[in-house]
Amino acid sequence: MLVSVPTSAKSLSEYEFFVDPGDIDDLHKLADKLHGKKVLHINATAVVGGVSEMLYTNVPLMQSAGIDADWKVIHGSDDFYNVTKIMHNSLQGMDIPLTNQMKSIYEYYQKMNADMMEGGYDFVIVHDPQPAGLPTFLKDHRKIGKHWIWRCHLDLTNLNRSLWAYLIPFLSEYDANIFTMAHYVDGHIDDLPPCYVIPPSIDPLSPKNMPLDDASVYRTLKKYKIDPDKPIITQVSRFDPWKDPLGVIDAYRLAKKEIPDLQLILAASMATDDPESWHYYEKTARHAGEDSDIFLLSNLQGVGNLEINAFQRGSDIVVQKSIQEGFGLTVAEALWKEKPVIGGNVGGITIQIDDGVNGYLVDSVEDCAKRIIDIYKDGDRATKFGIEGKEKVRQRFLSTVELKSYFQIFNDLLED
Ligand code: UDP
Repeated sequence: MLVSVPTSAKSLSEYEFFVDPGDIDDLHKLADKLHGKKVLHINATAVVGGVSEMLYTNVPLMQSAGIDADWKVIHGSDDFYNVTKIMHNSLQGMDIPLTNQMKSIYEYYQKMNADMMEGGYDFVIVHDPQPAGLPTFLKDHRKIGKHWIWRCHLDLTNLNRSLWAYLIPFLSEYDANIFTMAHYVDGHIDDLPPCYVIPPSIDPLSPKNMPLDDASVYRTLKKYKIDPDKPIITQVSRFDPWKDPLGVIDAYRLAKKEIPDLQLILAASMATDDPESWHYYEKTARHAGEDSDIFLLSNLQGVGNLEINAFQRGSDIVVQKSIQEGFGLTVAEALWKEKPVIGGNVGGITIQIDDGVNGYLVDSVEDCAKRIIDIYKDGDRATKFGIEGKEKVRQRFLSTVELKSYFQIFNDLLED
């Protein structure tokens, strides 16, 4: 049996403070026909990354709206996660062929997890490629779930066609698909059931995003030997080539020529479903060398949600210099904290950062360094960006907005 991930109770009414008047009532109205419906989210990890981050909020908020929501995580092995990492990279554009042996490993774990599923759900939402084959390997997937939704959080702009051809038979078992941006699908994916677009969201009340007083931020920085009185830039992300931590170090080095006191925090969680991250961590550490103003921090040093919150709040500028990015929750997190954000000009970052309004979109190390210097030298601009950024997140990327989209899809599927 797949085991449920425990989540803490949340109440929609606590979110009234952040949203427009009437928004929470509208959510309850949309959930009218959904009372008592059983919803299951399935993904690959409860520990690391944007998907689990969102489910810790979405699941209890669905429950607060009267839905019987649950979340389960599939089982895997290093072999399996190596294959799904290749699939992940290949969907985001790398040209790595999937061998027959890799396909066998993938299918073996789909079948194994399918055999562990129990049924009776009205909606099953399967996140990303790792569990995407589950309905195919169930004897009768309609007994397990009446409606199946595949939610893909990846940037599919340059997807590898041969992998896509392999996945299509699995994906055609679904009743709907959700993507982060319209252009991930428009014009180049037309072989799927109905597609919806929902950007991810952040929870303003989670330990990662809740208000923190200056003293706590100060203490946390001090605890990690970071000087709160000197300029700080931060990138929070897994150690992964797509997140370009090496490029961030290069940009920091260029900017440091103009801002000699500059410090760089690279905070990252080490994921169990991401064996490559260990290799990349070492590579990043080698690139950082002996520079005592670079702080490579992770869950291994006790960095959890509150510490990330403090690093983001304690920064002068937050960077997310990704080369490819499905969405980039870290951008929304930093904008919410009224930080100017410099992000790679790719994927979901482009719907969050309005260039020159709440941050900058950059295409190179040099651009990134230049923007760090520009913002650092212009405090008024930094403040203005922060105000704009927070309002954008409030309107478009809070959990309540995402919940509304889910409810609309559930209602659509019930009507079909
Ligand atoms: N994160 C974290 N600690 C870390 C690195 C990342 O808590 O050391 C969180 C980060 O704050 C964000 C999520 O993990 O909430 C990463 O989501 P994002 O969409 O930015 O990237 P993904 O890892 O899903 O590609």
